[in-house]
Amino acid sequence: MSQTSISVRELSCADDYDPDSMPVEQARSLIGRLLTPVQGVERTGVRAALGRVLAANVISPVNVPAHDNSAMDGYAVRHADLGATEVTLRIVGTSFAGKPYAGSIGSGECIRIMTGGVVPVSVDTVVMQEHARAEGDRVTIGSGHRRGQNLRRAGEDLAKAGIALARGKLLNPADLGLAASLGIAEVSVYRRLRVAFFSTGDELVSIGSPLTEGQVYDSNRYTLYGMLTRLGVELIDMGVVRDDPALLERAFRDAAGIADVVITSGGVSVGEADFIKDLLNRIGEVLFWKIAMKPGRPLACGRVGAAHFFGLPGNPVSVQVTFYQFVRDALYALMGREPVPPLPVLKATCTSAIRKAPGRTEFQRGNLSRDSTGTWSVRVTGDQGSGILRSMSEANCFIVLPAEQGDVAPGGLVEVQVMEGVI
Ligand code: AMP
Ligand code: MG
Repeated sequence: MSQTSISVRELSCADDYDPDSMPVEQARSLIGRLLTPVQGVERTGVRAALGRVLAANVISPVNVPAHDNSAMDGYAVRHADLGATEVTLRIVGTSFAGKPYAGSIGSGECIRIMTGGVVPVSVDTVVMQEHARAEGDRVTIGSGHRRGQNLRRAGEDLAKAGIALARGKLLNPADLGLAASLGIAEVSVYRRLRVAFFSTGDELVSIGSPLTEGQVYDSNRYTLYGMLTRLGVELIDMGVVRDDPALLERAFRDAAGIADVVITSGGVSVGEADFIKDLLNRIGEVLFWKIAMKPGRPLACGRVGAAHFFGLPGNPVSVQVTFYQFVRDALYALMGREPVPPLPVLKATCTSAIRKAPGRTEFQRGNLSRDSTGTWSVRVTGDQGSGILRSMSEANCFIVLPAEQGDVAPGGLVEVQVMEGVI
């Protein structure tokens, strides 16, 4: 996603661009090139920064650890005092975590030290208590100790003035802890991405109203709400818009006026696409692709006004598949995240037979489990029609079958994308 971005117009003229059979990988990389990430920056408290993207490096104001300290319970000694045979040293004090030893340590002397205790400058080595024999204020230590052993050096974890957290990082719980460990109360993050979305279709009814014949409840806005909420963007739900050019034009203009990204579902399939195509090309620059994938073949992307635009297919399963395969990465990049890590993939044994013709990448919905021998296996979640939302609801992974793949026999190895933590 970090290549130089290009315009929709430049892309639509590119030589190797075929909107009628776009391989999944190519679509992903082309979309990446159309993106302009948000620029706005705001300061936020560390807790509120969870899931936000850092807009500036966090520089460590201190060394971590702040002082040389002991990695073990034992004795802090001068290495020069140790010998080829046993030596006995006098214990002149103690250094505990949070309670350093204040005195000086002369030749033939040492201090008792606990893990995390500050190592005074006059000693340079820590001997584990298991390798020492103490009696009263004396301790006897054998040979073979390395200078500097069992010491954690000041700045070893993070050096003062070094980068503790890099710009572009999506902040996770450990990052909050790291910032706090440096005494940092606030960080700079990119402002939240504003995403407006609506469903298109004459047959759609919002929940709360009864259905008449031929109508269906609008479910896509709910799955989109869920997926967008998980990404941590600001949502603007614009409801259902009828397949009417004037209403659609108004909805697109309103959405593009208030959001960084406009996402729609429905209306981009063959037959339906024509008037939307004309409309979008009048008020923006939009590419219509037939992606070589199943489900989720039609996909539109580009700009409406100044906003980025993704036109997803109407089928409920296709909405989620295209969202996870294309829109998720694009939104992360627009949020300023870099790099955007690909969805995690693992190999599993497929317990059911899958029929598949070569030609398109298929994203079947699967249920992944681990048996008592530790082997991961996956089975398809029932009927895979692109309107069957239950197949998605029961799934915990996508079974990704590459374009060239044919039928899968039971026991065959397949790649799966785990949904947990992603969806
Ligand atoms: P379309 O892409 O507009 O041709 O829609 C394809 C199929 O998805 C049709 O059966 C639609 O009824 C259905 N569909 C479209 N939008 C939605 C939606 N928001 N919620 C549920 N089903 C939808
Ligand atoms: Mg429709």
